[in-house]
Amino acid sequence: MTGLTIPILKPVKRNQLIDGHGRPISDVRISVTDRCNFRCQYCMPAEGLPWLDRADILTFEEIQRLVGLLASMGVASARLTGGEPLVRKDLPLLVEMLASTPGLDDLALTTNGYLLERDAEALVRAGVNRFNVSIDSLERDRFYQLTRRDSLAQVLRGLEVLASFPEAHPIKVNAVALKGVTEQEILPFAKFAMEHPYEVRFIEFMPLDADRSWSSEQVLSGKEIRSILSEHYELVEIPREESATARVFTFADGQGRLGFIDPVSEPFCSDCNRIRITAEGRLRTCLFSIGETDLRDPMRAGASDDDLEELIRNAVWKKELKHRVGDAGFVQPARSMSGIGG
Ligand code: SAM
Ligand code: SF4
Repeated sequence: MTGLTIPILKPVKRNQLIDGHGRPISDVRISVTDRCNFRCQYCMPAEGLPWLDRADILTFEEIQRLVGLLASMGVASARLTGGEPLVRKDLPLLVEMLASTPGLDDLALTTNGYLLERDAEALVRAGVNRFNVSIDSLERDRFYQLTRRDSLAQVLRGLEVLASFPEAHPIKVNAVALKGVTEQEILPFAKFAMEHPYEVRFIEFMPLDADRSWSSEQVLSGKEIRSILSEHYELVEIPREESATARVFTFADGQGRLGFIDPVSEPFCSDCNRIRITAEGRLRTCLFSIGETDLRDPMRAGASDDDLEELIRNAVWKKELKHRVGDAGFVQPARSMSGIGG
């Protein structure tokens, strides 16, 4: 024995990441791939999009480094998304690499559910503690029309497998609400929410579709949905948590929860705490950002953590005050939802 004591390295704690409007940033959405096995009408064209080359997307180690750095700046919550995150090979391994990040309290995943039957167990075991599963319709033909895949049964099987793990709850089921389509889904989804331990959330259609065919007439607002529901049910609103994207309601008898994400009709930018990293490592400070900050090339060129921290802080300082959807002069970003990481 030499008597040498080995110093215990404490994780570096940096100042809270904050934007120029005084909002603390505590949530990062990371796209692990731009690829997807679905072709949802409101997101991707039928023929897909030109995919990024493998070499261009962040490696697991690069994602781990960025998440670690962000967590040291107070970004305590991370969500993996895409494209479809489950098409990224070995995703549970990435989850495992991220789950023990000091300062990270919450590791969530958004998926279309197609591969959940295969992957739910591995993802839960690896450390995903919150799941959002996107299901736009409970009716086979309409599901096919919306996603261009005849896969409702497969997705529902995946959801059931996921629900069998107590650690996976609470599970959220997200449906994009489209005028002329989703009205028919409102009551079936309400029943679904009452009969299952899932919070069903309606999301207003945003101008982030690759086809660029969005118009405000196609948005079925949360208010319109609640009005239809109120003819059948009494809904009781739960106080909104800070920085939450959804307004959440229970039925008067307390069975089941419905959420409404209404970014178009009732923007919730004032306490936005979110940033995003695209699959190729670009930092985006708003879903609707026009500009981005590249983190991948500086990382690959040898940037230190302090260099990256400076890049991140400078970009976040200029985070948009609010989105401009609906304003005259609104410009739709070049990337659509699957390329951003919704
Ligand atoms: N592929 C996964 C999925 O569909 O859950 C994760 C990525 S997807 C881009 C994330 C979420 O964005 C999904 O719930 C999807 O329905 C939603 N989304 C996609 N395009 C949208 C749009 N134009 N307006 C509103 N939500 C959209
Ligand atoms: Fe794929 Fe999700 Fe976009 Fe649908 S919403 S095409 S599942 S990325």
